[in-house]
Amino acid sequence: MSDTAALPYRLRLPGPTTVPERVRQALAAPVLNHRGPEFHAQFEAIQTALRPIFGTTGPILVFPGSGTGVMEGSLANVARPGEAVLVVANGQYGGRFHQIATALGLASDLLEVEWGLAPDPMRIKTALARRDYRAVCVTHNESSTGVVADLAAIGAVVKDSPAVQIVDTVSGLAGIPVAQDAWHLDVVVAASQKALMCPPGIGLVGVSAKAWALIERDHAGRFFWDFRKARTAQEKAETPFTPPVSLLAGLDEALRMIAEEGLDAVLARHHRLATALRAGVVALGLRLFPREALSDTVTVMHVPDGLDGGAITRHMHQRYRTVIAGSRTHLTGKIIRIGTMGYLSAADVLTDLHYLERTLADLGRAPPAGAGVAAASAALVG
Ligand SMILES: *Cc1c(COP(=O)(O)O)cnc(C)c1O
Repeated sequence: MSDTAALPYRLRLPGPTTVPERVRQALAAPVLNHRGPEFHAQFEAIQTALRPIFGTTGPILVFPGSGTGVMEGSLANVARPGEAVLVVANGQYGGRFHQIATALGLASDLLEVEWGLAPDPMRIKTALARRDYRAVCVTHNESSTGVVADLAAIGAVVKDSPAVQIVDTVSGLAGIPVAQDAWHLDVVVAASQKALMCPPGIGLVGVSAKAWALIERDHAGRFFWDFRKARTAQEKAETPFTPPVSLLAGLDEALRMIAEEGLDAVLARHHRLATALRAGVVALGLRLFPREALSDTVTVMHVPDGLDGGAITRHMHQRYRTVIAGSRTHLTGKIIRIGTMGYLSAADVLTDLHYLERTLADLGRAPPAGAGVAAASAALVG
């Protein structure tokens, strides 16, 4: 283990993700007056750059906080205590929507989907016909299982009901396609620390006209998260309260990087690298966890029989300084997860596969030497 200290720290989680040097430099810029012209210009640039990534012409609200903060804010704005919401849960983050809705005093009906599968829009349609819901909550990219929901199909169902669709795309946005307006998504929630290549601390929300009609109603239970205040401030390129100015400088730079590469190229890179990583882990003898609709921002795999996922993640960190994720659910120890979101190149996934192979070998398995890297390389050129 003598060479471990010399290895670079590799943050390979499904969030937070590696922050590129350019963004880290931008974070160190002088703090701006959040009511001054320099900030106004930066805030406008962020808005302009975010709209195509969300696929909307509407404003994107900006809040300090983690993704969970804007998940809570979204529910607190569209539903009054006592009103009903439908929560579609095919993993840990869907479950979180249910916990938040319950904590806010909403009547939360849970539509449970087997983990590893994507939600069936027809089940949502049936549920919507049975009760008057204010909102349907859907996880776009379920980071706990590595499954992507078909938002276009779900949006087509929800748009014909009085309910609004709240989408958690915290681990999807800027890594897989999002088309808020075309797919009829009403409240689209994202955060800075995943494919947007920034540190944690910014929550983002795109809001449709249909959602504003619910948000504009008077009701108790929101102050800091009041979307109406955010929209009013936004008209002056500001936020109602002091924003995380330095983080926004970082986001501005990250969005410039995305624009320089081109959004389509960014999404294609995510797909190419995720495909290569999946080919590699399968070649190492690991079985993928999702059974359909595989995510291009997180790869989730079963731990080989007789091994503990915790032992793998610990060894990857201690021996190779590579931080990958286990699970914090009933799957703890049984699955491991590697992020493929944000600032990522082929070198990263090839290194992941080399270290994963060495880890399996160090733990007494004998995966075919080089098989993971070879399969990934073939996928990258193929
Ligand atoms: C990371 C993540 C979140 C946000 O979690 P926070 O820790 O609150 O930022 C929400 N949903 C999904 C699907 C995520 O992957």
